[in-house]
Amino acid sequence: MDLKIVILGPPGSGKGTQTERLCAELGFTKISTGDLLREAVRAGTPLGIKAKGFMDAGKLTPNDLVMELIREKLKNIKGGVILDGFPRNLEQAEMLDKITKVDMAIDLVVNEDKLVKRLTMRRICKDCNSVFHLEFNPPKAAGKCDKCGGELYQRSDDTEKTVRERLRVYKESTLPLTEYYAKKGILKRIEGEGDISEIYRRIVKAINAK
Ligand code: ADP
Ligand code: ADP
Ligand code: ZN
Repeated sequence: MDLKIVILGPPGSGKGTQTERLCAELGFTKISTGDLLREAVRAGTPLGIKAKGFMDAGKLTPNDLVMELIREKLKNIKGGVILDGFPRNLEQAEMLDKITKVDMAIDLVVNEDKLVKRLTMRRICKDCNSVFHLEFNPPKAAGKCDKCGGELYQRSDDTEKTVRERLRVYKESTLPLTEYYAKKGILKRIEGEGDISEIYRRIVKAINAK
């Protein structure tokens, strides 16, 4: 499948979790700007150094930095792509439209009161970026990734205070994108609460209908 799919939804709505599975089972390539930024921060690149303060504060990283990462990635990819966490504002969506044609935008709909608990108990694999939750999706062995055995860590921005700011930023900057894609006739809203596998099936059904 050659679809270019954007996955929208607030922080904690399950974008990373569902993208991981779509890539493993349907052969999509993931482009996650969050993962790319965290790698740049860890590697201490000039871009990472610039991005870090914004990320720790729960703010969006400036568009030029993110576009630099996206352009580089999209250049080298063939086949279906899932963009996870990008675009995050109108300007990014317009820039993306200039680089490639987006076929579908999936909006994962989750009530805000669920998101804080999802995020503050989230754990990530430091080697492969797989996503876990201490209660809702726990790893088989405590502290270790099911997929690669890597060590799990808690993101420094998954604290309650930063999560609240990220939710505010989401509503202000990212939520309007659902309207942007709805107007193009390519928005698909998916109920993002409930069983992870059930949500996955809903998404696959929507993709197959494309
Ligand atoms: P996002 O990428 O949208 O920020 P994640 O996929 O990282 O969201 O999920 C946030 C947290 O919620 C993770 O800890 C994940 O394991 C958990 N999670 C994902 N989907 C569900 C679900 N349907 N029910 C409960 N918890 C979930
Ligand atoms: P989540 O899905 O849990 O909100 P992400 O991993 O997508 O988290 O993003 C983490 C942080 O990385 C954001 O708070 C922001 O600082 C930065 N970031 C990620 N993607 C973008 C983007 N497309 N534009 C601007 N900043 C971004
Ligand atoms: Zn792993």
